[in-house]
Amino acid sequence: MRISLEEAAARLSRGEVVAIPTETVYGLAADAGNDEALQKIFTTKQRPADHPLIVHISDIDQVSDWAAAFPDVAVNLAKAFWPGALTLVLPAKNHVSRVVRGNEPTIALRVPNHPVALALLKLSGLSVAAPSANLFTQLSPTTAEHVEAGLGDAIPVLDGGACTVGIESTIVSVAADGQWQLLRPGMISEIGRAHV
Ligand code: AMP
Ligand code: MG
Repeated sequence: MRISLEEAAARLSRGEVVAIPTETVYGLAADAGNDEALQKIFTTKQRPADHPLIVHISDIDQVSDWAAAFPDVAVNLAKAFWPGALTLVLPAKNHVSRVVRGNEPTIALRVPNHPVALALLKLSGLSVAAPSANLFTQLSPTTAEHVEAGLGDAIPVLDGGACTVGIESTIVSVAADGQWQLLRPGMISEIGRAHV
């Protein structure tokens, strides 16, 4: 079922899940501040509950809503690559739900580089958790048609065209002391070192 931007924002605000385009892959989105909504991601994807979710924010200023520390190396990475296919894993603030962080002491954050995703974040005023919009262990979808083929017609899809990157984001964790680690390679890893 295809839905409009306005309908997607309304559904997210009501605690429902919506498949959304990003530049990496299509995500199955839910309000990152609503545990009941987040549970729907896990049940829809049949994803194990201890797998943490990446929270999509619209602006670097929102990092402080979620992260207890934002060391200089992480700030530099965010400034160099956001909006873009880089996820930063940072120490989480205490209030951040254990559901979204899969019981980890950290929170994963990304500003997606997709006009429809950014418009949705701004219109809804929400931050959204959005793992790939496919069943756990299946291939990640890069078009609205892929999402429908994998999850069925009952899942509302905001169609934003084909994903330009087509693979999951690079993930870098940065500890409070600035020590960093590449957790998942991706499109950005090759050029990353030159920029840090
Ligand atoms: P994705 O399946 O693309 O949504 O990415 C989720 C992956 O991001 C997880 O399987 C972890 O590897 C990583 N990740 C997300 N959140 C965290 C976190 N809080 N701490 C450590 N790794 C995380
Ligand atoms: Mg996936």
